[in-house]
Amino acid sequence: MKVVTQASEMMAALAEHGRPRVLVPTMGALHQGHLALIHRAHVLAGTQGTVVVSLFVNPIQFDRAEDLAAYPRPQEADLAACRGAGVGVVFAPEAAAMYAADRSVTVQETQLSRSLCGAARPGHFDGVCTVVLKLFLLSGCEMAVFGEKDFQQLAVIRRMVRDLNVPVTLISHPTVREADGLAMSSRNVRLSAAQRADAPRLRQALLAAQAAFQAGTRTPTDLLAVVRQVIGVSGLLRVDYLSLVDAESLESVERIERPALLATAVFYGDVRLIDHIRLQP
Ligand code: AMP
Repeated sequence: MKVVTQASEMMAALAEHGRPRVLVPTMGALHQGHLALIHRAHVLAGTQGTVVVSLFVNPIQFDRAEDLAAYPRPQEADLAACRGAGVGVVFAPEAAAMYAADRSVTVQETQLSRSLCGAARPGHFDGVCTVVLKLFLLSGCEMAVFGEKDFQQLAVIRRMVRDLNVPVTLISHPTVREADGLAMSSRNVRLSAAQRADAPRLRQALLAAQAAFQAGTRTPTDLLAVVRQVIGVSGLLRVDYLSLVDAESLESVERIERPALLATAVFYGDVRLIDHIRLQP
């Protein structure tokens, strides 16, 4: 496995490896969810191809300095996990290797970013688009794998690829969960024992709303009330947003006549967790 820390060394490192190149962009602190994406990348790469994993906590997508500072960075463990997973090339740059001090060009997405995580985190998805485009260019990948857990991120990147004619095929992978239903996240390790024990409530609340939907509840107000009822109980979490949106436009819906998405972000202390569930009429 080749570990590259400088953008300028990527081309030489990759030249020794076969095609197709399949990229899995991550911010490190790898868990089973990431490993499922890497496994998927291997299947796509086949015997001749190369799996490329990036480990980079992208500063320009963080809206809170304390979140960036607290983000876990277990680099040795991440490299060992990549080695164990048969990754061909790891790209693990420092921020200074990715962004010039006087950088002045970014990718901006103006439609899908306005709701959900984008509304609460201004500039977040522009930071995501910018780093993902850079990683596509640096890796010269034909394919890239993203998790459905970050549903809005996936939608925004799909839009970028379409609107900028980026020659990369996107593959999405379902959310990998803990046995108790909590979506795996690098941030879960920052939860206290009490918060961790409470956190599966998020998934339970979304499942309760999905069950209500399947039983005939159709108005957003009633469905959101079901979610609030289940997540409100413990008092340990604070809801950042809770929205019912069209699965394609990500805009709020009044009635569910097309596939929709019930999406939420909550804070346990300063740890922010997200999850969503699809509602299919
Ligand atoms: P992150 O390191 O959190 O930026 O995530 C890197 C990639 O892994 C993104 O495409 C995420 O959507 C994906 N990912 C993170 N957690 C999960 C999970 N629990 N299941 C599936 N994919 C995930």
